Amino acid sequence: MTTATNTGWGLIGASTIARQYMVEAIRAQKGHDVVAVMSSSAERAKAFAAENKIESPYDSLDALLADPAVQVVYVSTTNELHLPQVLAAAKAGKHVLCEKPLALRVDDAVQMVRACNEAGVVLATNHHLRNAATHRKIRELIHGGAIGRPLFARVFHAVYLPPHLQGWRLDKPQAGGGVILDITVHDIDTLRFLLGAEPVEAVGISQSAFMAKEGLEDGAMSVIRFDNGVLAQLHDAFTVKHAGHGIEIHGDAGSVIGRNVMSQRAVGEVVLRDDAGERTIPVEHEGLYERGVARFCAALQGTGEPAATGEDGVRSLAAAIAVADACRSGSVVRVSQINIGGIQ
Ligand code: NDP
Repeated sequence: MTTATNTGWGLIGASTIARQYMVEAIRAQKGHDVVAVMSSSAERAKAFAAENKIESPYDSLDALLADPAVQVVYVSTTNELHLPQVLAAAKAGKHVLCEKPLALRVDDAVQMVRACNEAGVVLATNHHLRNAATHRKIRELIHGGAIGRPLFARVFHAVYLPPHLQGWRLDKPQAGGGVILDITVHDIDTLRFLLGAEPVEAVGISQSAFMAKEGLEDGAMSVIRFDNGVLAQLHDAFTVKHAGHGIEIHGDAGSVIGRNVMSQRAVGEVVLRDDAGERTIPVEHEGLYERGVARFCAALQGTGEPAATGEDGVRSLAAAIAVADACRSGSVVRVSQINIGGIQ
């Protein structure tokens, strides 16, 4: 295990998410710093390092993993690369915070969890929404009985993919593009967190309206049945500018509504509606990625669990793949049973 100070992080991937949120979130942790970055392009690695004051730019994974200053890696490359990069990091004895979707196939994601378990390194999945104060409050309300027995959920997560991200998500099936592996997987992880339940089966229909190419979907509507009986309806898209976003959980005694809560930013509000009327429930916002990294750092110290473990990444991916299969086949698809062989 690492010590409380001077933990060096290596970024695998000179990505937008690393630049926009994660470098700052890592540096917000006491004793943690970003010391290396690896890109497939030496030029991009150097530019990213200069822009973010990172000491060591690399253009090879082996070189980054051989750097003794790196104890932890953050993997935020395109999705098909997560598997080989996480396996290599585990082999090198580095702890791993990996972006979602963990992999493109459930078996691959299971292999990643097993490899990290066997290497004795921590693996976490960067499902940020679990860290939102709004979602944590919604979970608390549900588990405290505020809405009675949860029966239905509705997720509104149809957004507009900004021009600077209109790349591999829209034209590279081999990189795990498409809205289901990008957004639906987050919704599923959030519902698993809120409900404390697991997805069992899914139906869905997808759309390729105008953005996505190469047979990829840029919109999807799906329904998932959870093992506590809840039916969840998910609406995800890259193509709509003004839909707004949120989540609703409806129980037999009340409804809890999260408005503007499917966000990367610490925003949104929680409303509870029951026989006593409607009221806003106060929340204390905090940075989602900062909190996620803090939970990961606590796990490195042996004083907690990551907000979303590797196993969470596998389970949320399995249900997203069931949605994708359901959209392709037009049938009800059972979510794969997960057998990791020893919980992380
Ligand atoms: P980007 O497209 O910004 O980066 C992905 C890869 O694209 C980089 O690793 C980089 O490769 C390559 N790349 C970046 N800029 C260029 C360029 N100018 N020319 C050619 N290639 C380039 O992706 P995102 O940051 O949006 O996503 C990365 C990962 O993070 C994905 O797995 C995604 O699903 C996940 N993600 C998670 C979020 C969350 O909230 N948890 C939010 C957003 C994304 P190289 O490293 O080789 O330079």
